[in-house]
Amino acid sequence: MSHNVTRVLIPPKKIVVITAPSGAGKSSLVRKLLAQRHDLAFSISCTTREKRVGELDGKDYYFISPEDFKRKIANNEFVEFEEVYPGKFYGTLKTEIEKIWAHRKVAVFDIDVKGAETLKKQFGQDALTIFIQPPSVESLINRLKNRASEDDKSLKARIKRSEEELTYASRFDKIVMNRDFDTAYMRVKNHVTAFLAPQTEHVHGD
Ligand code: 5GP
Repeated sequence: MSHNVTRVLIPPKKIVVITAPSGAGKSSLVRKLLAQRHDLAFSISCTTREKRVGELDGKDYYFISPEDFKRKIANNEFVEFEEVYPGKFYGTLKTEIEKIWAHRKVAVFDIDVKGAETLKKQFGQDALTIFIQPPSVESLINRLKNRASEDDKSLKARIKRSEEELTYASRFDKIVMNRDFDTAYMRVKNHVTAFLAPQTEHVHGD
């Protein structure tokens, strides 16, 4: 008797990177994606910035001191890190990705455009990088202004940086316009689904 067997192959170690200028709304997209797909896990970054109201250490970030951050750089513990704002460091620990893969999950990143580029260079085909494009520069500035947590000086720095980050769009695998959240979310979800489609091989057996 002849029958076909479908073998599900062991998933390779993959990462999904969501990147955008600060204020383009990528964090909400990442949150929804994580809530809907349980094969994904958020890669928690280290940062030296202050904790905002409502944020939790070890959930949103690992909030560490500049000294601790420097020590980790010296020990080569980061897969990437950036000084995203003057004096404020953000970075991904190698151990964070290993931990997620050990749980047989795909690591999801919410990081800046430079960090995203570094990850793409390192992980190549095993990384999907999605750039979230705000509909206009004005919409970006308005979002940043609406964040009550920013004081005037850091707001100006964020606006300047966001404008520069907009020019990075074409460096990533996919660009998703965030004019309307639900549409943007569907597009992100579809890209992720296609990227992570279970790899199967069809074996013709007897
Ligand atoms: P926020 O301070 O608003 O949480 O984040 C500021 C920026 O830093 C955002 O664009 C965020 O995506 C980015 N970011 C967060 N974690 C990392 C990281 O580990 N590496 C890099 N390069 N950027 C990060």
